Formats: sequence, C-alpha cells, structure tokens
Amino acid sequence: MKFVLYCRKSTESDDRQVLSLDSQEKELLSLAERLGIEIVKIFRESKSAKEPGRPVFNEMLKFVSSGKAEAILCWKIDRLTRNPVDGGQIQWLLQNDKIKRIQTFEKNFLPNDNVLLMSIEQGMASQYIRDLSSNIKRGNRAKLEKGDWPNRAPFGYKNDKGNIKIIIDSVNSKYVVRAFELYATGSYGFKDIAQILCNEGLQTKTGKKYFGGSVYRLINNSFYCGLMQRDEKLYIGNHAPLVSKELFDTAQNVLHNKNRPRVKTHFFPLRGFLSCESCGCSLTACLKKGHHYYYCTNSKGVCTEHKTYMREKDLYPIVSTLFQKLDIDEKLIDILYDSAKEKLDLDEVYLKGVLATLQERLDALVVKESRLVDTFLDRQVSKEIYDSKILEIQNDKVLVTKQINDLKEKHAQEISTLEPTKNVFLRASRSSKQFLLADDNEKREMVENIVWNLSFKDQNMLQYKFKSPYSALANVPKNADILTLRRR
Ligand SMILES: [Zn+2]
Repeated sequence: MKFVLYCRKSTESDDRQVLSLDSQEKELLSLAERLGIEIVKIFRESKSAKEPGRPVFNEMLKFVSSGKAEAILCWKIDRLTRNPVDGGQIQWLLQNDKIKRIQTFEKNFLPNDNVLLMSIEQGMASQYIRDLSSNIKRGNRAKLEKGDWPNRAPFGYKNDKGNIKIIIDSVNSKYVVRAFELYATGSYGFKDIAQILCNEGLQTKTGKKYFGGSVYRLINNSFYCGLMQRDEKLYIGNHAPLVSKELFDTAQNVLHNKNRPRVKTHFFPLRGFLSCESCGCSLTACLKKGHHYYYCTNSKGVCTEHKTYMREKDLYPIVSTLFQKLDIDEKLIDILYDSAKEKLDLDEVYLKGVLATLQERLDALVVKESRLVDTFLDRQVSKEIYDSKILEIQNDKVLVTKQINDLKEKHAQEISTLEPTKNVFLRASRSSKQFLLADDNEKREMVENIVWNLSFKDQNMLQYKFKSPYSALANVPKNADILTLRRR
C-alpha cells in the first residue's frame, strides 16, 4: 500500500504544543520504517486547519484521489482536518474507497472504522468549541469595555430580566453596605460580621448560614465601588456602586494593614475610643465576674493610673453627656445650615481646580499610552514590557476617571444631602436618652459616629474630640448670639 506522509503545524498559539514539522516528519518516518510502510510522497504544511483552502492539503487529496497513493500517514487526525469542508472531503474519499487506511502515530484507522469518523467529527467539533469560547471571551471583553458585567450579578445585585443590566437587589444590598462599614472600623473580623448580618436578617438563597469567607470575598470585590476587575484589568461599571471608593479603600487598608486589631474574642462597646489622660496610652478592656472594666495598658511603664479599673456601666452616663453637648436649639441649626450652604459655594471653586488637575493627569496618561504604542510598533520595547506597561497605564486611566466621576457625584450628593444633614443635627440633640437605652452594638455605633477619642483621668472624662460635623455643633456656646455664630 502506497502512503503519503502529511505533516502540519500552524503558527497559531493553540498549536504551540504540537511537534515541529521536522519532528513530526522524523518521528513518522521512523514509524513507517518500523511498520514497513512505503511512503511515496511527503507533504508539509504550515497553516491552520480551521478554514478550508490549504494548498498543500488540497494537493495531497488530489494526489490520493488520482490513485497515486491510497493511504495517509499523519501525526494525529486533527492534523488532517478541523473544518467541515475538509472533513467532508476526507469522509468522501473514505466512502469511495480512495483512502484505504489512515495511520497516525498512535493508531491505525480503516475506512469503516467508526472511531475514525468520530475523530474527524470530533476534530471539527472541538475546533468549533474553541472558537465559540474565544468568541465568548471576546464578547465578554467588549461588554466590559462598555461597562456591562458579563456574568451573574454578585451578592447585593440582580441581573435584570433581559440579562443586560445589573440592578441593585433592594433586600441584600443593605447588608453589603453594612459589611463594609463594619469592617472598615477595624473592630470586627469576618466571622463577627457574618454573625451580625445573620442576626440582622441576612439569608442566603439556599437558606444556609452566611460565612466569614463570604464576607472576605465581599470586602475584596471592587465591583461594589463600581470597578469591575477581569484578569487584573479594571473597567468602570455602569452599575450603581453600593459603597464609595473611599469606604472600599478604607476596608482594603484594614485588610492589608498588619497592625490591624486581632479579631476579638469578646465584644467591648467602648474599646478603642478611650485613652488615659495621664500617659496617653489607650485603655483596654477586660471581663471580670460578668462585668466589663476598662483600664490603662500602661505600655510606657510610667502611668500612675494603671491600677484604676473603670466599670463600663459607670462610664455610660458620662459618655451620654456627650450627646447633651450636641443639644442645641433649632434656630442655631438653621444658621449652621446657611453657613454650610455658603461653604459649598466656596467648595465649588476648589472642586473645579481639582477636577482640572485630574483631567490633566488623565490627558497625560493618554499621551503616555500612545507614546508606548509607538515605541512598541517601532520595536523599541519587548512585548512583555509593553503588555505590563500598557496594563498599568490603562488601570491608572480607569482609576483617575473613577476619581473624577466620584468627586462630581460626591459634590452633587453634598448639595442634595444638606437638608437630611440638618435632620441629623436635629436628631443628635435628642440622642442622649437614646444612648442609655441602646444595646451594645448600637452604643458602639453611636459613639463611633460622633467622637474620635475620649480621655479619662481619675475616672473622669477630661477631653473628647468630636468628629465633623458634630465638632462644629458641640463647640457652639449655648448662650451665643447670632453674630458670634456667624463668625464661626
Ligand atoms: Zn495611663
């Protein structure tokens, strides 16, 4: 039986694993010798078999169908065909007895062999699947570029009916926000947060418990601040962020900061807010006989106060006086509201400056990108360097664009939240009683909202630092007249 030897290798990446033409030929020639196969002609082709129309392949089929040979020796069946047209030609020649045998490195096929037909079909099908998956990838990338998310919506979001837009899941989104807020304080571990969310009504689809690992994935997912990440590349999403970039970054800092507090075994509502006036150390807490006590850690070793233990219950009335300081009459709140409005007008000038700076930075990145492309096209940099640099630049572009969008949005929000803020002030003045009635978690949250630090000496609160905007409120003298207030 006369054989033709056919070797093929394309330059495409999915052929990288295939032996070179020389190696295929060498191995097959030695196989032919072992099997006593007579080879009348060798055909070598460097071309992909995805599309019909390979010149050498066609030449070989002509050679075979004219009767100059009746069998083919090749490395694997997929070297012969990967498209339906060429596959059909081979099948036709098999049916008409023009091809009497196909020998590959591993196996001998005869015309009636089902495996042969299957292999030919499989070759076509697997190529089809490969094309399909790379088409999907390409489609996904195009979607991402447009700001759409090509997959199932993450927890806290839903896919809309047409599967085009990502919309906020009104039930679960609040838990995402809550998780970020809790984690960003640095006082809770993933497990604590999962537990708190469960207590607050979070249920998974399957009705199972929400675990710490899920919280970890949530905190790590930039999707929630509006950035979609795919293969290290960032895209700005069209979906509404659930948390600000600021809050996301804070949470990330907590996550990556090695000094972050260890996950606590016991929950002390005031831990982290109290310090010792004598030595400046922060107070720590302990549990003794069912009561919480706070005391100076004396980490500098010079404190005279460190043997003083303050009972938590005794501290609460003292802390509640903070809220009384926020008690202020409504006329003053109106004045503060007006001055806040004035300040926003001033901010607008500053914002314009900042936005201009950011826009310049963005423009510079665009220039840098096109320069890099030029140097790459001139072959002054390697593909590896180009790839890593271009990714860096593109990610920077996305981040700066995000910054610009966020600033604009934040400003718009500030204007629209002025009214609600006023209500916060009104509420603050009524919080003193509320604080004493609140449970441990609420107490911690209330304190967290209004103060940075409280310092104690001789069991008395000596200093406190309010957070903005409460600082403005607390520092207003109770009997101040309108003129002094305006000056403030
Ligand atoms: Zn101390």
